[in-house]
Amino acid sequence: MSTAVPITKSTSQSPPSSSSNNNKHVVSNKILRKLPRKEYNTVFPRLEWVDLPVHTVLNQEAKSIENGYFINAGLASILTVMVGGKSVEVGLTGVEGFVGLPLVAGFKSSSTRVIIQIGGSAFKIAAKDLVRLLRECPVLERSLQQCSQSMALQSTQVAACNRLHDVNQRLARWLLMSQDRVGGDVVGLTQEFLAHMLGTRRASVTVAAGVLQKAGLIGYTRGEVTIRDRAGLESATCECYDSINRQSKLWQNESA
Ligand SMILES: [Zn+2]
Repeated sequence: MSTAVPITKSTSQSPPSSSSNNNKHVVSNKILRKLPRKEYNTVFPRLEWVDLPVHTVLNQEAKSIENGYFINAGLASILTVMVGGKSVEVGLTGVEGFVGLPLVAGFKSSSTRVIIQIGGSAFKIAAKDLVRLLRECPVLERSLQQCSQSMALQSTQVAACNRLHDVNQRLARWLLMSQDRVGGDVVGLTQEFLAHMLGTRRASVTVAAGVLQKAGLIGYTRGEVTIRDRAGLESATCECYDSINRQSKLWQNESA
């Protein structure tokens, strides 16, 4: 039997099957880590560990969802794409989340494009396997339903934020949300990506990054943001960051 995946700290979980390459990799995804032993043992053999370099497209708008992804490291951005090709980020997800949520509701296609913004890894599951497993694994099903609600919460708040708050505040919010998911102080990003994420022009992002840099909150060089003063960023952002976190905590308590 495998002994290679230190997913524990919880007695309710067990090591995975030794029959796949999964057992070389630490399970960090919070949904997988929360599964009771029985469900974990049912789900794990169906998972395949995959490396996710930056720019990998996980789901494509208006296309069928072939696979779901339990993100294990890195950051995925959920984009709404317009007919002319312009896109704006409506949510982001990392180690706490799952990509392919329409499957949980019995849908087969994606309404959004999901693309890796910060390279990482995931445990991939075939859509048909997930749909079958949901019938056998009530904790997994509930976790994914809650994940859907969390993404909806982000989307509604981000829609209001994009309309009502200035780009400096939005950039600060985005950096805080990203750091919460990937850890560390350095977020590798291009200006072009940031512009997509914040629904604004590239020039506005340059100005906003300059403002935050001048205030000593971040360092910004080509393609890389270093967070220097997290508390300062929290003061500089709009109410949306707190609002999302407050509601998330409330829901966590309600489901405990
Ligand atoms: Zn806001």
